Amino acid sequence: MRLFAAAMLASAALTAQASAQTKPHNVLLFVADGLRPGVVNETTAPNMTALMKRGVRFDNTHSLFPTFTTANASAMATGHYLGDTGDFSNTIYTAFPVPGAGDSLTPFLENDAVLGDVDEHFSGNYLNEATILRAAHQAGLSTATVGKLGPALIFDPTERSGEQTVVVDDSTGRPPGVPLSAEMKRRLTEAELGTQAPTRGENGQAGDFQHPGTLAANVGQQNWFADVTTKAVLPMFRARGNAFALVFWSRDPDGSQHNEGDSLGRLVPGINGPTSFAGIKNADDDLGKLEAALKEQGLYDDTDIILTSDHGFSTISKESATSFAASQSYADVTPHTLPMGFVAIDLAHGLGKQLFDPDKAGAPVGPGAYPSKGNGLIGGTPHDPEIVVATNGGSDLIYIPSGSKELARQVAGVLAAEDYTSGLFVQSDLGEIPGTLPLSVVGLEGSAITPMPAIAINFRTFATGCADPTTCGVEVADTVLQQGQGMHGSFSRADTRNIMGAAGPSFRAGFADPAPASNADIGRTVAMLLRLNIEDRGKLIGRVLTEALPNGALPHPESRVMRSEPDAAGRVTVLNYQTVGDTRYFDAAGYPGRTLGLQP
Ligand SMILES: [Zn+2]
Repeated sequence: MRLFAAAMLASAALTAQASAQTKPHNVLLFVADGLRPGVVNETTAPNMTALMKRGVRFDNTHSLFPTFTTANASAMATGHYLGDTGDFSNTIYTAFPVPGAGDSLTPFLENDAVLGDVDEHFSGNYLNEATILRAAHQAGLSTATVGKLGPALIFDPTERSGEQTVVVDDSTGRPPGVPLSAEMKRRLTEAELGTQAPTRGENGQAGDFQHPGTLAANVGQQNWFADVTTKAVLPMFRARGNAFALVFWSRDPDGSQHNEGDSLGRLVPGINGPTSFAGIKNADDDLGKLEAALKEQGLYDDTDIILTSDHGFSTISKESATSFAASQSYADVTPHTLPMGFVAIDLAHGLGKQLFDPDKAGAPVGPGAYPSKGNGLIGGTPHDPEIVVATNGGSDLIYIPSGSKELARQVAGVLAAEDYTSGLFVQSDLGEIPGTLPLSVVGLEGSAITPMPAIAINFRTFATGCADPTTCGVEVADTVLQQGQGMHGSFSRADTRNIMGAAGPSFRAGFADPAPASNADIGRTVAMLLRLNIEDRGKLIGRVLTEALPNGALPHPESRVMRSEPDAAGRVTVLNYQTVGDTRYFDAAGYPGRTLGLQP
C-alpha cells in the first residue's frame, strides 16, 4: 500500500516534468566518502554548503549499518537494503575461495577483480538487483562512474567492456581495471591526461604503531579523476545529446581520515586534525570543479546534483580491559592494546578452538601473532571452518556455516562478555538468543544470494566531548590502523549520520528536510528522476524522497525503540529507529551506555 502511494506521488511528479521536457534531467551523484555533516560549513566545504543552501539540505540522514563503503554503495546503487544486496560489509564471507583475493574465503570487496569473481560465482551479479547505472544504460542514457576503487564499479558491477558504462577508478589503465573505450582513450589523450590512474601516493601511507600516518590529502589522484570527468566524460556526454547519469565517488575525506598522522595514539584531535580537513576540502574542491564544468558546458541548468556520504566517521580506540587478545604481546602492536583480529583471537580462545588465517592459505595463527588481515577461520579445518570472522572496523561479521544454534549461543556468550561489545544482531534462523536482536530488524535479512552473517557485532562508541557529539565520536575498531586514526562501521550516530543534499531543476529550493532519509532512498530517488523501470527482486527497499521535490508533502515519521530480552548478565541490545510507513531508518544501536547517541 505504501509503495503504491509512493509510486503515485512519484508518477504525479513525473507527469508534471514530462510535459515540460522530452528527456529526463541529468543526474550527478557526488559521494564524499566518510564525510560527517557536522563538520561541513562555509569555511570547511563552501561548495557543498552552497549546494545545500540553494537546494535541499537533509537534516535527518542515515547510512545503513554496517556503516561501511561497499555496503552503502550497494544501497545507493540499487535502492535496496543490505539484506537484499548481500553486500553486508566491505569484507564478507563468500564460502568459496576468491581468486582475486588470493583464494581467501573472506575477500575485501574494494577490488575490481574480486567484484568480478563474486559476480561470476553468484549468478552473474552478486547484488541480485539491477543497479541505477545499468538500468540507465539500458534505457538509452549515457552512464559513467568515476572515483574510488570498489564503490565506483558497484554502480554497474557487471560492466567489463568499458563500452557501455564508463568506469574510471584506481585500477584504470592497469590490471584488473575495466578497460577504457577507444573514444575515452582518444579524449583523454587529446586532453593530455594519460590513460592510467595515478596512485594515492603519500595519502596511502597509514604509518604504524611507532610512526604517524599521512599528512597529505588525496589531491593528486582526485585531480585526475576530476579532470577525466570534466575534460573527457562530460564533453563526450554533451556531444551525444542524451541525458546522463554520472557517479563521482571521492575517496576523500575517508582515506585521509583513516590514515591521518595528526594524532598517533591520542583520541584528540583524532580525525579533527588538519589532514582530515584537507581531505574534506579536497572533496569539496572536486564538487566545485564538476559544477564549474557543468556550467561552462551548458549542462548545469539541466542537471540534478545529489550529494551524499556513505557513512560518518569516528576516531579509533584500541583499549580493552577484558580482551585476551589485548593481554598478549605482538611485535608491532602497542602493548596492552587490541591487535587487528582481536575478535577472531578472543573467540578462538574463549571457545578453545584453533584459529586459522584465511588470507594466508589457512595457516594456523599461533601465540604472539594475529591474522594477517584480521579475518579468522575458527575450529574444524581451514577449508571447512566452524566459525568465520570477517573483520571490518567499527563492527565485524561472524558466520557459522553449519547453522548450529548451539554454536551461535556460545559465540554470542563469549562476545557479550567483552567490554568492547555494544550490541549483537543474530540471524533469525539461529533462534532467539537473550541479549541480542535479530538481523531482520535492521534490514539485514532479505533476498541476498551471498551467505548471510550469523552474527553482527557492534563495537563500543563514545564521544571525547564537543558541541555536536557526532563530530567527535570514538569507536573500538578491529583494524590494522592505530588508536587516534580514523574508522567507521559502528552503530554509533557518529557513523550512521551521513551528509545528504540535493539541488537542481527537479528539487525544491532553499528547503531543509526534517524527514528521515537513507542511502537506499538515494538509489530510489535517482531511479525516479531518471524514470527508470527497475524490477525489484527483494522487498527491502528505500523510498523516493518526494518531500524534496516541488509540492511534495512531508511524511509523518515515528520514532521507536526496540529492546531485546536481557541476557543472563542483564545486557540488552537496544535499537533506536524511525519509520515512514514501512520504511525503517536506523539511528543507533547497542548496549545502553556503550553507544554514542543511543537513547535507552
Ligand atoms: Zn573507510
